[in-house]
Amino acid sequence: MKIIFGSMDIIDESNILIVPIPSLSKYDVASVNMLRLDMLHPVISGNKWYKLKYNIEYARANNYKSILSFGGSYSNHLVATAAAARQNNLQAIGIVRGDYLNASSSKTLQDCTSLGMHLKFISKRDYEKKTDEDFLNELSAAFDHPFIIPEGGANELGRKGAGDIALLIPEKYDYICVSVGTATSFIGLRNALNANQKLFGFAPMKGGKYLESDIEKYTLKEKNTNWQLFDEWNFGGFGKWDQELVQFMNSFLEQNHLPLDIVYTAKMMFGVEALLQQDFFPKSAKILCIHTGGLQGNNSVKEFLSPNFTVS
Ligand SMILES: *Cc1c(COP(=O)(O)O)cnc(C)c1O
Repeated sequence: MKIIFGSMDIIDESNILIVPIPSLSKYDVASVNMLRLDMLHPVISGNKWYKLKYNIEYARANNYKSILSFGGSYSNHLVATAAAARQNNLQAIGIVRGDYLNASSSKTLQDCTSLGMHLKFISKRDYEKKTDEDFLNELSAAFDHPFIIPEGGANELGRKGAGDIALLIPEKYDYICVSVGTATSFIGLRNALNANQKLFGFAPMKGGKYLESDIEKYTLKEKNTNWQLFDEWNFGGFGKWDQELVQFMNSFLEQNHLPLDIVYTAKMMFGVEALLQQDFFPKSAKILCIHTGGLQGNNSVKEFLSPNFTVS
């Protein structure tokens, strides 16, 4: 199905496939497959587009000229916002965490700039205020009243859009696995999946279980069941990794022809395999792992990855 955004036909969901994961077929479950949201678009990849789509639609419908959002120097959300804004004739403004950075500090920020995003670098201390009303009012006045999207697209429209990912998931799957950052995608999915489909979230940061209270808060009462978060496969914290993870990514690519991203999906798949090794799933389990994209982030580690990773 093609999605039409205004006059611009930017994203083709028919690029998204469900594929088997051959390296996991040795485990005693019915099937382990992957939903490849990473194939949606080279820049607006994976879950980020789903979280942005109703935000962009809202901004356009309400005649905003620009959208403003937040992120760090490797933010998949920021670069997706830049690309989505450009394709919808909106000016994009990115508020970046770290006043010591500049537009050439990372490939991600360079890409944001070449997509036309205006970047403003602020201190980590100011960045903490990213949800304070006074601070948002200041930013709004400084940038001529843009539509403001929170970091990670974590708002009601973001959760609604993420729920549309469930439309791509056939009912036969009884275990759905997804990586979590803000948990916006997780919540949207939990609300949209059937209550009897189990949803497992894999947090790539230390102590990720703090997200459980947000999940409780935003999940519909009748769907607040059959979900679980795992945070043990964080490899030292958000953005941290070691040789074992890199080797896992390289052999996953070699055996399955599936590229993972080092920040989110590699840690999730490592965790899924660990659970399979522990016989955590019943033999009848039909498992679907969601590839949420984020491959542009591999630029930060490309010298460690197999040359078969095609990093854009
Ligand atoms: C942003 C991101 C996530 C986390 O999504 P949330 O909705 O914030 O939980 C997961 N995977 C990838 C690849 C991402 O870029």
